[in-house]
Amino acid sequence: MPDYNAWSHPDTAAFDFRGDVRTRPTAAMLEALSNASLEDDVSGTDTTTNELQNYMAHLTSKPAGLFVLSGTMGNLVSIRSLLTQPPYAILCDARAHILNNESGGVFALTGAIPQVVQPANGRFLTLDDDIIPRIQVDNGKQIHKAPTRIIALENTLNGMVMPLSEIRRICNYAHKHGILVHLDGARLWEAIAAGEGSLSDYGPLFDTITLCFAKGLGASAGAVVVGSEAVIRHARWIRQSIGGGVRQPGPLCAAARVAVEQTFCGGLLQRTHGIARDIAAEWQKHGGRLTFPTETNMVWFNFNGLGFTLEDLVKEAATRGVLISRDRLVVHYQICEEAIESLKKSIEVLFSRFQETREIA
Ligand SMILES: *Cc1c(COP(=O)(O)O)cnc(C)c1O
Repeated sequence: MPDYNAWSHPDTAAFDFRGDVRTRPTAAMLEALSNASLEDDVSGTDTTTNELQNYMAHLTSKPAGLFVLSGTMGNLVSIRSLLTQPPYAILCDARAHILNNESGGVFALTGAIPQVVQPANGRFLTLDDDIIPRIQVDNGKQIHKAPTRIIALENTLNGMVMPLSEIRRICNYAHKHGILVHLDGARLWEAIAAGEGSLSDYGPLFDTITLCFAKGLGASAGAVVVGSEAVIRHARWIRQSIGGGVRQPGPLCAAARVAVEQTFCGGLLQRTHGIARDIAAEWQKHGGRLTFPTETNMVWFNFNGLGFTLEDLVKEAATRGVLISRDRLVVHYQICEEAIESLKKSIEVLFSRFQETREIA
């Protein structure tokens, strides 16, 4: 495996499991960045930016794309651009990023009512169990409840993959009832790396999709929204209104393109899934439980009923130079082999220390 941290940045990512936001741009990304075009994108005339937008539209089989500064901004401009006249509601998973991790932006800036659903199967929303019972279809009669205008799905969610077959059912049903569907696909790369379809399978099903270039792909910033020409035209307005129009985003777009081509298309994510499974297996081997199944690059340690706490694990791992911060561990492609072995060792040490304590008691 190439040494992604060798290009001189002192702040290494190779031992950092605190999140895949910890990835660093690679030498190839920095080189692309310095060769990017430097025209004005507020007027839509920057070559590198337009090329990235077209490339992402092509990959997802959508007519158009728009570069945005973050996944949060992508979800906001997408959803704001799909909605027209209130009253309206957005149906989403109770654990959705738009609901819990975006400072309420989508709901504050649209005035939409959230229709929050805890999926019956604990993993992903299904049409029959979660959506049909909760959706408010506009049948021209009832006026007490805000009609559902958007279903917002997320894939992956907490590292779990939503099956393409269920997504297809939900999108078909929604469109048949005049409801639009947005995908928070900040981590969609991971679902695809796990074998669940391709980008061009998802694009045609959704009205808008957000994809992030930072996180697991390794770029330092940026995301893209893909959709119809009309929606993207409107999204450009919304982006401008919230201060997301950037004069010279060319360098960011150039790095993002390398991130897509080398990290995602280059197949570097699959290894992270294998590592996550390996770490999860180590945890389970000692009797540890997982809060959510490890289906991509996340491992959710459950500390309930163990003789040690998250803080104990954080400290034990730190003695070996491994950084973790919460019960969710994220494996990114710049994690090195030594970090994996050190983390597994830390897990083993804690479980056996706990075992000894129990035996003495
Ligand atoms: C990280 C993330 C976002 C937001 O991305 P930012 O670039 O941090 O704003 C949105 N949705 C999901 C599922 C994410 O994991």
